[in-house]
This record gives sequence, C-alpha cells and structure tokens, in this order.
Amino acid sequence: MTKTVTTRINDDGLRYRSKTVGSPFASKANTRSCFKCGKHRTPDQLQSKKLLGKTEMVCKPSCKELAEALGE
Ligand SMILES: [Zn+2]
Repeated sequence: MTKTVTTRINDDGLRYRSKTVGSPFASKANTRSCFKCGKHRTPDQLQSKKLLGKTEMVCKPSCKELAEALGE
C-alpha cells in the first residue's frame, strides 16, 4: 500500500497537507481494487464475480493472467 502525501497552496495562501492513506489512486477515481489480489484495476480490467454470496470485483480474465499481461 502506498502512502500519498500531497502539499498544496490554498487560494488564501494557507499551506496545508492532506494525507491520503489507503487510496493511492485518488486522482484516478475509476480504479477499484481487486477482491482477490488487492491490486488496483480499471473497470475494463475487472469483472464481477459472485464470491461467498456477494458480488465482488476481480481481475479479468484472472489475477494471474492480467498480471502477466501487464508485466507485473
Ligand atoms: Zn486480482
């Protein structure tokens, strides 16, 4: 998990830091983490699967194949 710390200057000149923990893709709001491997994927890299009675998003076609396709 990546910790992202961003610093930016507000319009009124106040300097503040915002720390985002657990959502390293705040700027890429469309990614979701895979239920199985936990990696962040875009919607076209995900498929919904019924697991333990719930619908979860997992890599498409599978975690292993997608990781290989992406060179991970
Ligand atoms: Zn996966």
